[in-house]
Amino acid sequence: MLHYRTIPVTAFRQNCSLLWDDASMEGVLIDPGGEVDRLLAEAARLGVALRQIWLTHAHIDHAGGVAELVARAGLPVIGPHPDDQFLIDGLAMQAAAFGFPPAGAFVPERWLHDGDTVALGEHRFAVRHCPGHTPGHVVFHNAEMNRAFVGDVLFAGSVGRTDFPRGDPQALIDSIVGRLWPMGEQTVFVPGHGPESSFGQERRSNPFVRGT
Ligand SMILES: [Zn+2]
Ligand SMILES: [Zn+2]
Repeated sequence: MLHYRTIPVTAFRQNCSLLWDDASMEGVLIDPGGEVDRLLAEAARLGVALRQIWLTHAHIDHAGGVAELVARAGLPVIGPHPDDQFLIDGLAMQAAAFGFPPAGAFVPERWLHDGDTVALGEHRFAVRHCPGHTPGHVVFHNAEMNRAFVGDVLFAGSVGRTDFPRGDPQALIDSIVGRLWPMGEQTVFVPGHGPESSFGQERRSNPFVRGT
């Protein structure tokens, strides 16, 4: 059975998720944006052997800890979509611009595309490409646990910013309507910042997407 724990990291309180399978006690980190010591300690405390890093997109608060994790734990990086390459190349500049600890680039072992699948043990997650906040943003959906890890596409009561380089407001709404809503109203999502919600709740009450 799958479990997860959300660990807010960095000054931006980005929701890094530690996801694991209790059959094998193997796990992945989704969006380890920083505070690598804390993430490794939490995995050790829970008895989880980390196997992979999954990335929704390459903004500094989501990907700033990746190079350090690769160096220290040897974990392969899965994602994001190749259209975020320019953000990976610019991680050192992003770190300086936002006052983050130094961060470096990395090379994903596997890029992700719409319709791909990633797996943790026998548990499979559907990958959807959701551009708009960044061009290479992806989300991970697991029907069995009724969860979607959506990064900065959608938040409880808001949507991702589109005023960063290569942001696209119409693409963002198209991603939400065309690729998140079909996962079902009951689906609970873990956003990159702030509390969880469900897609149904957001369709009813989120002013940015109400009625879509
Ligand atoms: Zn972002
Ligand atoms: Zn973020």
